[in-house]
Amino acid sequence: MKMNARLKPSRLRSHANPASDGEARQSAKGATAARYIVLTLLFAPACSGGSGGIGAVSCGASTPVVIAPPLHVPIGQLPAIDTNALLEHVKVLSSDEFEGRAPGTKGEELSVNYIADQFKKAGLKPGNPDGTYFQKVPLVGITPAPAPLVFDKAGKKQTLKWKDDVVAWTKHVAPSASIANSEMVFIGYGVVAPEFNWDDYKGVDVKGKTVVMLVNDPPVPDPANPSELDAKTFGGKAMTYYGRWTYKYEIGAQKGAAAVLIVHETIPAGYGFNVVQGKTGEQFDLVTPDKNMSRAAIEGWITLDQAKTLLKNAGQDFDALKAQAATRDFKPVSLGTTASMTIRNTLRTIDSRNVAGILEGSDPKLKDEFVVYTAHWDHFGKNADGIFHGAEDDALGCAALIEEARAFTRAQAPPKRSIMFLAVTAEEQGLLGSQYYATQPLKPLAKTAANINLDSWNTHGRTKDITLTGYGASELDDYARDAAAEQGRVVHGDAEPEKGFYYRSDHFNFAKEGVPALDPSGGVDYIGKPAEYAKQIQAEWTEKRYHTPNDIIYPDWDLTGTAEDLKVFFAVGYRVAQADKFPEWRAGNEFRAKREAMLKSRD
Ligand SMILES: [Zn+2]
Repeated sequence: MKMNARLKPSRLRSHANPASDGEARQSAKGATAARYIVLTLLFAPACSGGSGGIGAVSCGASTPVVIAPPLHVPIGQLPAIDTNALLEHVKVLSSDEFEGRAPGTKGEELSVNYIADQFKKAGLKPGNPDGTYFQKVPLVGITPAPAPLVFDKAGKKQTLKWKDDVVAWTKHVAPSASIANSEMVFIGYGVVAPEFNWDDYKGVDVKGKTVVMLVNDPPVPDPANPSELDAKTFGGKAMTYYGRWTYKYEIGAQKGAAAVLIVHETIPAGYGFNVVQGKTGEQFDLVTPDKNMSRAAIEGWITLDQAKTLLKNAGQDFDALKAQAATRDFKPVSLGTTASMTIRNTLRTIDSRNVAGILEGSDPKLKDEFVVYTAHWDHFGKNADGIFHGAEDDALGCAALIEEARAFTRAQAPPKRSIMFLAVTAEEQGLLGSQYYATQPLKPLAKTAANINLDSWNTHGRTKDITLTGYGASELDDYARDAAAEQGRVVHGDAEPEKGFYYRSDHFNFAKEGVPALDPSGGVDYIGKPAEYAKQIQAEWTEKRYHTPNDIIYPDWDLTGTAEDLKVFFAVGYRVAQADKFPEWRAGNEFRAKREAMLKSRD
């Protein structure tokens, strides 16, 4: 679970009024639909007064009656989510016996078997074509030995101290990785974004070189109001994927760079260098067929001070280059400096597992298409501080996954498309289980209509709202908005879109491959509580429980709000499974082109 996804929203309030509290006050449209479906089910063939677009019954003596399956079952007619069952799953998964659910431990064994067993009990079929509920996920743990990074400008050396000045690693599954006298190039923000007509590399050959770049998106001013960022370019204030450090390493590797170094700045990164320093220990990664040799040999961060010195020694000015980098005209700057570093690794490999179950769709044509729900089963295991129970993070998400599956099996009419329930491993190690699934899917992504991620729920009761991280990215937001409105509730974006939380949970790996993905979490406007309540509990969560052994079940847990939220995301998945067409990314979204290409190749 990412840390701050549930803070108070600052923008993107949505349409419906938060006036009513719950499903009793459905929209007029919902009420009509409810009555209509009952009529068609009980008394068909029957005539209906044509309630705009819902189902299809034609009347008249000579015309045969056609009853379409209910496309839009109102939310009040969908099965409820069982809060007691949710709690029971969390009790088991967060128990001492499960030892904090670390990949490759007894905790994994117990967790994946429990979830598979629950899937089976719910009537789901094995999600893997090999007839099992498991997908093997090969992981490698790489621990780098401390090493200095040395810049050399015509014999003048600048030595960056491990951890204090530089945090670097290699993804190569190899005993060591190094760069030696590698030519250095400052590459601006290191972004290649065709949809924004932006290319920081400008065709410059960086093969074997060390590229240095800035974090976050290029901050492009709004031409009409230069004190604000241009909302049409790189999402304005919100971070796009081009701003994420993971993107910068990926594009650098694609361009053939030997090393990719990001300049750390606290505000654009969204966190201090101390967070980066947390990456000096063992890091897990997937083992790709090429043992990650297509990655740059060295990836890392350097401090702002060291970057300024580097550029000064090269006869450049950091601030001037940074200003240039915010324009389309920026060209890479060769620094006439070289970089050298050797990182030695300790390696260990683990075979971990994703768990997948499928509820088969009812439509012979559409059942080969999927809606995929995800939650991560893993957490941090145990250490000298105790067991990291991960009750909220993310035993509750797994409980939600199981109970959504059970709700689907209880729906009056089964979904037309199939639904996959996927509990992924190694989220806490960098979204690895979902990355593995998204790159080695059990069902084709071109036939995957959507991903809905069930992480980050609330344990404090009902809210008038729901948070959708990355709000506005795709039509899935509209599904969520409409379903929430039927409960008299609203949806909105996360409070800090500039921090890029949309890129920091499992759904993102689906998005990155092109599949529209929804990342919901609990609301912040609690019924009957003062406005500051959400902030208080968020602060307490962040300070006392998040990623500590204190993430346990508390006696005051109230899952009624989560059950209500989960019903909304049940409705979203159900309706996507019934819809005429797949949901789409919005125009200008960075994943849209990939999706279009994928769907074209399918047809
Ligand atoms: Zn977490």
